[in-house]
Amino acid sequence: RAVLDAQRARGWWESFDRQVEERWEELTELDRVSGDGDFGRNLRSAVRKARARLVGAAPDDVGAVFAAVSAGFLDTGGSSGPLFGMYFREFAKAAGGLPVVGADVLARASRAGADTVQRLGGASVGDKTAVDAMVPAAEALERAVAGGAEVTAALTAAYRAAAAGAHATTGMRARRGRASYVGDAARGVVDPGALAVAWFYERGATAA
Ligand code: ADP
Ligand code: MG
Ligand code: MG
Repeated sequence: RAVLDAQRARGWWESFDRQVEERWEELTELDRVSGDGDFGRNLRSAVRKARARLVGAAPDDVGAVFAAVSAGFLDTGGSSGPLFGMYFREFAKAAGGLPVVGADVLARASRAGADTVQRLGGASVGDKTAVDAMVPAAEALERAVAGGAEVTAALTAAYRAAAAGAHATTGMRARRGRASYVGDAARGVVDPGALAVAWFYERGATAA
């Protein structure tokens, strides 16, 4: 597909929502090793809040879909709630009022989101956080846009980059977030926040 309309954006999010409902326990299991074991539940709670807000979201505005999503996260606890809320807020801003968006808007949103999360949370690539998937996803989208890719191809590139970035967190020792309190104990498991970001782009590549 060349562009993403609001209905497709909704379908993308609903697909992610279903994946979280089916597999949130895997994320909680990962957070049990590296943190406090609540990430899957926090994420499930956020997607349920987003779902409720999506019912009333404007139908022809891609930004409204992401605004509902962002609000759902900002309403949820844990470190992930506010950080992911601010991440998706950049998608809402970039796509605000637009009935369709191209890969260029997604690339801008993804970059602004990664920048915002880094600024607020203080993590850089290599610190074993969601940033390890967010930054490669933004880079991949930018490369795809520079190469003239359309939405589906760009999201596929973003998914591959985010998944590789998430996978790379396995060997890292955390320097930010709760995982940094457990030292080497978290080495050997993927960061659950980074994995969730990879899921988000994977659902986009498939559903959008
Ligand atoms: P908490 O640790 O407060 O229980 P969650 O379990 O909701 O938070 O979320 C944990 C995830 O949040 C981690 O896997 C990581 O990806 C992400 N995270 C935590 N701190 C940061 C940070 N400073 N920057 C980016 N992502 C972070
Ligand atoms: Mg946690
Ligand atoms: Mg917690």
